[in-house]
Amino acid sequence: MVIMKFGGTSVGKPERMHQVSQLITRNTEPTLVVLSALSGTTNALVEISTALASPNKQIAAEKIAALEKQYRAFIIDLLKEETIRAKANEMITEHFEFLKITQKISLSDALNKDILAQGELMSTKLFSLYLEQEKIDHALLPALEFMQLDVNDEPDLTAIQEKIKGVLAQHPGKRLFITQGYICRNSRAEVDNLKRGGSDYTASLIAAAVKASVCEIWTDIDGMHNNDPRVVDKTVAIEQLSFDEAAELAYFGAKILHPTCIWPAQQENIPVKLLNTMQPTAVGTVIKKEAGSVGVKAVAAKDNIIAIKIKSSRMLLAYGFLRKIFEVFEKYKTPIDMITTSEVAVSVTIDSDIHLSEIIAELNNIALVEVEKNQTIVSIVGNEIAKTDAVLNKLFQAINEVPVTMVSYGGSHHNISLLIPSEHKIKTLQLINKGLFNL
Ligand code: ADP
Ligand code: ASP
Ligand code: MG
Repeated sequence: MVIMKFGGTSVGKPERMHQVSQLITRNTEPTLVVLSALSGTTNALVEISTALASPNKQIAAEKIAALEKQYRAFIIDLLKEETIRAKANEMITEHFEFLKITQKISLSDALNKDILAQGELMSTKLFSLYLEQEKIDHALLPALEFMQLDVNDEPDLTAIQEKIKGVLAQHPGKRLFITQGYICRNSRAEVDNLKRGGSDYTASLIAAAVKASVCEIWTDIDGMHNNDPRVVDKTVAIEQLSFDEAAELAYFGAKILHPTCIWPAQQENIPVKLLNTMQPTAVGTVIKKEAGSVGVKAVAAKDNIIAIKIKSSRMLLAYGFLRKIFEVFEKYKTPIDMITTSEVAVSVTIDSDIHLSEIIAELNNIALVEVEKNQTIVSIVGNEIAKTDAVLNKLFQAINEVPVTMVSYGGSHHNISLLIPSEHKIKTLQLINKGLFNL
């Protein structure tokens, strides 16, 4: 089976849905298509939820009305057959009735997740109706019946595998399946999601669950570029990345991939391809076991990082000190991204401030603590990068003027990470583009 995931911009216009219908019908193998919400919808739903939580609920009503208007216009463009158009309007009415009802009930975390799920539910139903109009045989599979989280709110691959098998078995002989990205159920059977950008994760999880031959991520750019094309002028697509390289780039901020979407495909050794819906013949990027080449491949940046410096003059002699520190982070389920140590201090970075005050309070019991917010991790990624000739030299020459606050080197064979104040991010990425990539 082939898994094909299309992101928001790939389905965001009626003509794009037409393009997608052409791309998904040319495979010889059975195909399972994962769709995101139409571009802008999840952002709009987040805004609706935020407005519902505020005292001025009228703003929510206005935003719901504006979004509905957009869907009504989309239907007129997408669907020409009267009966199918009527079905689409009826379906959209149901979803917007739900959104309108939310104004009358108090917003809970579970209701918030229900609201966020509307985007993928509507996009897949609209696309399915379009396929019906075009007489393209397919089955629409409800992701909420098989995308399962465990008690730690992590995807439960074993459960997904069993459940999707059952769901697919209900459609013998079918060769084309459509399902929703991003949405899932948690261990309390509530509607939940895989966090922003999560449709990539859905695709990789399904690929692993059905042992697909390939997982294709179709988006609006021709693959993973060497640098962030949103802030750097001249960037180039990378032909091949290893799973480890791609996972680091995704985790450290390359927005083209959800931060943790590589592991399921990696576990089953399924190649992931990054392809461009707007330019389907471009080679794109293939992500597989082999890195293909040695040396620096790309740089990515992750914002909203908090640096915590933990100082203790007694640390040198106190074995067990690091354990005590790590236990605090473990207690508050807060992962550490970067870490450096000296004789008297340990510096770590985290990307969540949810439990920051509790963490600091507990650390204060064992050491002196300093906190620095608004930091960015810049990660330079490449196979055997640590062994690459003069890479550190070139890097630090290139960013000579940037005040680097932490450096992590040697932790893995394919990553050098720097911590910098966020205000220097764009400049740093531009300087690295010149100094390391000669672009
Ligand atoms: P989709 O809606 O298809 O999931 P995303 O917006 O999530 O698409 O991801 C694609 C975007 O990621 C690109 O348009 C590009 O601006 C951005 N991006 C950031 N860093 C990179 C990178 N290193 N390579 C390619 N794209 C990147
Ligand atoms: N629609 C969701 C989002 O915008 C998931 C995705 O597009 O991957 O975050
Ligand atoms: Mg995305």
